[in-house]
This record gives sequence, structure tokens and C-alpha cells, in this order.
Amino acid sequence: MSEGLTPSQSVNAFFDRGAELIHLKDEMYDVLKTSYREISVQVPVRMDSGELRVFSGYRVQHNGARGPYKGGIRYHPEADLDEVRALASLMTWKTALVEIPFGGAKGGIQVDISGMSARELQAMTRRFTNAISHVLGVHRDIPAPDLNTNAQVMAWMMDAFSASHGYSPACVTGKPPELGGAPGREAATGRGVVYVLEEAAKHWGIDLASSRVAIQGFGNVGSWVGRTLDEMGVTVVGVSDVKGGVYRGDGLDIDRLVKLADSRRSITELEGADLVTNEELLECDCDVLVPAALGDAITEHNAARVRAAVVVEAANHPTSTGADQMLMDAGKRIVPDVLANAGGVTGSYFEWTQNIQQFNWKEERFNQELRDVMVRAFDVTVDFAERRQVSLRDAAFAIGIERVARASKLRGYV
Ligand code: NAD
Repeated sequence: MSEGLTPSQSVNAFFDRGAELIHLKDEMYDVLKTSYREISVQVPVRMDSGELRVFSGYRVQHNGARGPYKGGIRYHPEADLDEVRALASLMTWKTALVEIPFGGAKGGIQVDISGMSARELQAMTRRFTNAISHVLGVHRDIPAPDLNTNAQVMAWMMDAFSASHGYSPACVTGKPPELGGAPGREAATGRGVVYVLEEAAKHWGIDLASSRVAIQGFGNVGSWVGRTLDEMGVTVVGVSDVKGGVYRGDGLDIDRLVKLADSRRSITELEGADLVTNEELLECDCDVLVPAALGDAITEHNAARVRAAVVVEAANHPTSTGADQMLMDAGKRIVPDVLANAGGVTGSYFEWTQNIQQFNWKEERFNQELRDVMVRAFDVTVDFAERRQVSLRDAAFAIGIERVARASKLRGYV
């Protein structure tokens, strides 16, 4: 929460601006602003200690006019109903912006998983899946990984769902390759962020090759942003994880950082770099800042100290509404989350279609199709923004809302 707004109020403030730009009719506004369905479930788990703990789980289906509901599952102490509602709404505008045939959803369990065993995680995941399985399905609602969930969690979800519905690999995406996970999906969000950044740099006349990038968060998304930039020869000067960050002006050793993260150690153990706090990372000397961890990383409290000229929102809702305005007033360029991290759901779409067709693409094809989608999404967004003299965020919301409104109208929602 920031500036007195809850996450869903904050996302809705962006929605209002996009809706105003396209003169959305009042009755359609009422339909699109609220969720179609919000489910809260009890998730009791017998811990290894013998104690029974009861967690709260949520699935919010925001809008399904353009296709089955689609969105990740996060395990996090702040994943309450309001946050999940906000993230579900972002998914609706995101899938519409990149023109993939899905609606928007999100799910989560309000839990701190640090210290939980694999058995406890599996028991919790199965219990949660069973509790929401009546609203899931290959053509109904398809979860994917998000904060603190991964391919293994998706495999357990698929197994729990398949136990009562028959073998259904397409009921979740982001699975391990052995169960129909698409080669390229794991990297897709991070790669997509970089594809958009490349296109943006070209458009704005920025020389990416000589730019210095800092990344907050080095999990799935952050690490793949780092790896992809490193492969391209772009210097990554700072990264962080939940424990803190590391900074080195002439560039960090990304391979060693990935090895640390893969072995579940903190990236702060890297030798030969300065230790920084997560706050310092966001304010460090760099040209491009990529928040790739939690929401509300940049608020009105630190926005004035952000030195990067370009902020690429790999995380969902990392910039509060007040900070967004401050950054723009300071002349920064912001690539908004609904555009920047849409590679994740686009990659999920590719996995889902392959599962349904039972036909596997090569990773080269996956990456090329992903690049095409991301470049097209950037181009339509920047075109709208420049024609209407608005921010990329306002343009992205306006385009997404207009497409969803059209589908909702055609389906007779209003
Ligand atoms: P993850 O769990 O794999 O990684 C999260 C990273 O953030 C870890 O390095 C963790 O240590 C770090 N982190 C956690 N709390 C932090 C804190 N307080 N300060 C700094 N760092 C912290 O999660 P992910 O899948 O990489 O997701 C990251 C963000 O990207 C989320 O906002 C998520 O919604 C968004 N996103 C993810 C996907 C996807 O495909 N996984 C797609 C679109 C958007």
C-alpha cells in the first residue's frame, strides 16, 4: 500500500486514466473496473512439526471476455485479496495489449514460505488447487508461476487438477519440460523485458550497448533479464535479492550470480562487488533501472532519488501512482508493467497452445514469436502515446481497455 491507496485502488487509478482517454461509457466502466469472480479459500496444512496451520488462499478472475482467465499464483505474506484483485486486473489489460486470447486472473496464498519444507509446500499447493479446482480448467482458468512459485509448484497443481479431470497438461503453464513445459517459457518474462527495452532504446535513440543496468530482484524474472542482457554484452552494474544487493560500476559477473541464485544462496555472497541495500540499489548510478521483485518498490519517498533515465517495470506494479507522476515530471521514461513483463503470459500462451495441439516448438521459434509479439506491443503503445501525447502507461491501459470493452460488448456483457 502507498499514499493511502490499496493495491487495487492504485491500479484502478491507472485504469481510470486509460478509460478516460477512450471515453469509456459509464456502464462498461462499471463492468470492467470490478472482478467477475473472487474466491477466498481456507488452506489447512499439517506442518512437519505436527502443528496444523491454516492459510488463506485466493483466486480472482477479473475479466474473461477475450478468453480463458489467465494469471500467476504467488506465495507471499502480502498476497491478500486486495493485492490479488489488483494483479488480476493488470492481467486483463496485459493480455489484451499483447493480443493473446486470454482474460485476466491472479491467485495467491498469504504465506511466508521461507523455512517451509518441500513436503509442506506440496501439501499446501495440492490443498489450494483442490479448493479452487472447480473454477480452473484448460478453457476456463489457467494458472502460472509468480512470486515464490515455480515449475515444481505448477507440476503439483497439474497433478492435483488431473487427478479429478484426467491428464491435463494445459491446465497450468510454466511447467517442467518433462510435463509439457515449453522450452523458453521459464526465460520468457525476462527475455520479453529485454526485447521491449531493445525496441524502446532504438525508438528513443539510446545506445543500449553502452548503457549500465541495475536490476532489483534476481529470481525468475530478474535473473533472466540479467542473463539476456549479459549475453548481448550490456553491462549490469547492480542486482539485489531479498537479503540486499551488490554493485560494481564496471559490471557484475552474471554467471556467478546465477550460480549463487541456483544454489539457493544470496547474491550478496558475490565477491569483488560493493554491498548495497535494496533502497540504495534503486537509487544507484545507472542508466536503466529494472525493478523485478515486489510491488510499490518506487514510491513518493524514493522516486526523487532514482537516477536512471529509463525505468522498465519487470515486476507488477512496482511504481506507486504518486511516484509514477514524480518520475515523469523528472523526465524519466517508464516502460509500464503491462507492457514490459507481458512476455511471461505470452510465453504461457505459447506453452498452452503447444499442449493443446500436442506439438512442440523449438526454443528458437518460441523466442522469435515472443520477440514479434513484444515488439508489436511496444510499437502500438508508443504510437498511441505519441499521437495522444500521453505516457506509455496511459496508452497501454487505454489500448487494453478498448479491446476488452469491444469483446465485452460483442459478448453481450452490457
Ligand atoms: P521470484 O520469486 O522468482 O523472484 C523474486 C525475487 O525478488 C527474488 O530474487 C527475491 O529474493 C527478491 N525479493 C523478494 N522480496 C524482496 C524485497 N523485499 N526486496 C528486494 N528483492 C526482493 O519471482 P518472479 O517470478 O521473478 O517475479 C518477480 C516479479 O515479476 C513479481 O512482481 C511478479 O509478479 C512479476 N512477474 C513475474 C512473471 C513470471 O513469469 N514469473 C511474469 C510477469 C510478472
